[in-house]
Amino acid sequence: MLTLGALCCVSVLAVGPARSEMSDGQFDFVQANMIGVFYHEMGHAIIHTEDVPIFGQEEDAADVLSALLIHETFLEEDAQAIAFDAALGYLNDPQGMSEIVYWDTHGPDEQRFYNHVCIFYGAAPERRAALAEDLGLPPERADWCPTEYEQASDAWGSVLDEMSSRAQKDTLVFVPGSGRHADVLNAIVADEVADFNANYTLSNPVVVRVESCGQTNAFYDRDGRILTMCTEFVDHMLALEKRL
Ligand SMILES: [Zn+2]
Repeated sequence: MLTLGALCCVSVLAVGPARSEMSDGQFDFVQANMIGVFYHEMGHAIIHTEDVPIFGQEEDAADVLSALLIHETFLEEDAQAIAFDAALGYLNDPQGMSEIVYWDTHGPDEQRFYNHVCIFYGAAPERRAALAEDLGLPPERADWCPTEYEQASDAWGSVLDEMSSRAQKDTLVFVPGSGRHADVLNAIVADEVADFNANYTLSNPVVVRVESCGQTNAFYDRDGRILTMCTEFVDHMLALEKRL
C-alpha cells in the first residue's frame, strides 16, 4: 500500500509565460507528458539513490512508478486528464510506420501504453471505467488491473514511505535551462521538483536540469546523479499531439 500522507493532492500548474503560442489542448498535452516523463526518470533516480532491488526491467519499474505517482499526486479530475494524455504520449508512432524494436530495454510503445492505462485504471476502477473504455483497455486485461495496481503499490509503497518519513530536505536541486520552450519546461519541472521536495527526501541529492540536448530525450545519469529533461521533448509532444 502507498501511504503518502501529505502528498495528496496538488492542482495543475498555472499558465506559464510561453503558453501563448500553444492552444490550451496543446499545453495540457505537453504538461501531462512532461510530468509523466519526469516521474519515469524519478523512478530511475530513486532506484539508484535508494538502492531499490528490481525484479524485471528497470524501464518497466520506472513506468509503473510514473503511473502510480500520477494517481497519488493529483486530484481526480486532473489525475485523469494527465493519465489520459500521458498514455497517448507513449504512442510515438500512431500510424504504425516503424518496425517494433523488440531488443530495446523499453517495452514496445503500445505495451507501455496499456501497462500505464492498466495501473492507473486499477488504482480506482470504480471511477475510471469510462477512461479505460475511451483508451481501449480490453476487458480481459481490465479484470487484472486492480491486482496489478496492488502489486505495484506494494512494491513501491515501502520505498516511498521511507522517503516521506525522513526529515524534509530539498534533495532535488533544480537547474533551469534556456532556449526554445525552456520557459514552458522550466515551469513544469520546477513545480514537480517543489512538490517532490515537500513530500520526499532522497538518501542522496539529485540535480534536475532542463537543457537543450540536441535530441528528444530525458535521462538519469548515475555517475553525477543528474536527471536531465531535454527541451526538445516539447516540440516532439506538440508534433505528436497533431498526429493523434
Ligand atoms: Zn527510462
